Amino acid sequence: MADTAAVSPADAPARDFIRDAIRQDIAAGKTAGGVVTRFPPEPNGYLHIGHAKSICLNFGLAREFNGRCHLRFDDTNPAKEEQEYIDSIQADVRWLGFDWGTHLYYASDYFEQLYAWAEHLVTTGHAYVDDQTAAEIRENRGTLTEAGRPSPFRDRPAAENLDFLRRMRAGEFADGARVLRARIDMASGNINLRDPVLYRILRARHPRTGDTWYLYPTYDFAHGQSDAIEGITHSICTLEFEDHRPLYDWFLAHLPVPSQPRQIEFARLNLTHTVLSKRRLIQLVRDGHVRGWDDPRMPTISGIRRRGYPAGAIRDFCARIGVAKANSTVEIQYLEHCVREYLNAAALRRMAVLDPIKVVIENYPEGQVEELEAVNNPNDAAAGTRKVPFGRELYIERDDFMETPAPKFFRLAPGREVRLRYAYLVTCKEVVKDAAGEVTELVCTYDPASRGGNAPDGRKVKATLHWISAARGVPAEVRLYDHLFRSPDPDAGGDWLADLNPDSVKVLAGAVVEPALAEARVGEVTQFERQGYFCVDPDSTPGKPVFNRSVGLRDTWAKVQARGG
Ligand code: ATP
Ligand code: MG
Repeated sequence: MADTAAVSPADAPARDFIRDAIRQDIAAGKTAGGVVTRFPPEPNGYLHIGHAKSICLNFGLAREFNGRCHLRFDDTNPAKEEQEYIDSIQADVRWLGFDWGTHLYYASDYFEQLYAWAEHLVTTGHAYVDDQTAAEIRENRGTLTEAGRPSPFRDRPAAENLDFLRRMRAGEFADGARVLRARIDMASGNINLRDPVLYRILRARHPRTGDTWYLYPTYDFAHGQSDAIEGITHSICTLEFEDHRPLYDWFLAHLPVPSQPRQIEFARLNLTHTVLSKRRLIQLVRDGHVRGWDDPRMPTISGIRRRGYPAGAIRDFCARIGVAKANSTVEIQYLEHCVREYLNAAALRRMAVLDPIKVVIENYPEGQVEELEAVNNPNDAAAGTRKVPFGRELYIERDDFMETPAPKFFRLAPGREVRLRYAYLVTCKEVVKDAAGEVTELVCTYDPASRGGNAPDGRKVKATLHWISAARGVPAEVRLYDHLFRSPDPDAGGDWLADLNPDSVKVLAGAVVEPALAEARVGEVTQFERQGYFCVDPDSTPGKPVFNRSVGLRDTWAKVQARGG
């Protein structure tokens, strides 16, 4: 299935407060070298759908304003960062359809420069080495209503600070023995300005710089300056950094940085029935609540890719939710709605029986096989047709039959006639059961004059069922997914893990699919008629494909909306 099949609103120009701010900066001549944005992941986990929002925004802005977007790894904490994450992040950004060209950077590339700037702050009296323990620093930071208490080391002479800082770098002190702090304002109403920590001693092997460094910059000290080094004009980040902006601006004002990035904050994406925090996603993986980072139930980019959500549908979703300044939560059903809409236009139709029951057509010649013509996509004539084999023994869906039909059940029942899609009208004559009373087989007759599905006398037949030839069908495993968490807000009950949905996956090992699906490639998504969209899983083996249900056919979003969310 081509990823370009749907028209993507992501490609249409959007208007929002970020784009307005950029237009103003362009008009004011502040972006002489072009608009430059960046996506700055910390490589301490796999990317999730929330990151997709940030990626689409940053790379989208660069595209719209003919600028460029950097991919920069904020790799300042070697204790939590791994090469596996660096690799997966690059693969995921590419898969989403974005390209950083030659602009791949690492905050660790700037360690030497950042350290030089730390010495600059020390020599200008704007930073000091603090010997307090981490607990003492926390204790003395104060609260929202109470000013902080100055460290007893705050007025250490610059020369002494410089000496200590150099010895910290040389590895003379134990982890945690001392930190470097900015000397700003212990009484500031903004706690981020109460002498924040700039450097900590940490003996940890860094994925890129190895054992070169005994001290590492904090995220706050590295982030804004990395932007300035790269000439980022617009540093787009989530709202929790709004209170950090005065600190970043303080660094920019007190250091000889080569440029002055403008930070603009937007609301992060929250989704119902899932969690979007790397710390929690790591816990789900480590503790075996899911099969891995790419488990199709995970909100990770690799999980939704394996689930069969196309990149184009994700870009659509991100464009449609837009950016705002207030935090909110998006219904997961809206994401599913976007995926369904996208796949409806793009996916080929196939037949598959997930929970089969055998049908024997007693008046159909034994050994005969007919190849019947079936359309590949009713919305797209260019998708053409295929042949589907029909024979004396077939499978239909177990729940398409009721021995004692309920009111409004119009599908197969004893004595009743239904249409087999693309094939014939059949009538149920006899129900065969095993010793336990379980229905094992339905004996039917067919009307040879109804080939293609219509009776020559025009008699009405209400139901149309999908089916598979027993002789030629391909055995398959089908995995049906439900939301990973039962509640819209897994935190509502206090214990998010207790809200895990025990029925988030259901494996149907005895499905049968039409022969055309035997050749489907891993990652390909098709519509199983009357069932939903299904994607070929990498667990597939020759002769035994495995399918993940991406989304069902029924749109549950309208229902969620009607309930008022
Ligand atoms: P998490 O909270 O999951 O640990 P993070 O913010 O620590 O994520 P980073 O690697 O720092 O993860 O994120 C990289 C970029 O993606 C940042 O600019 C961050 O603001 C953005 N981002 C992270 N989560 C979301 C989200 N839910 N919605 C929008 N943007 C996000
Ligand atoms: Mg972060």
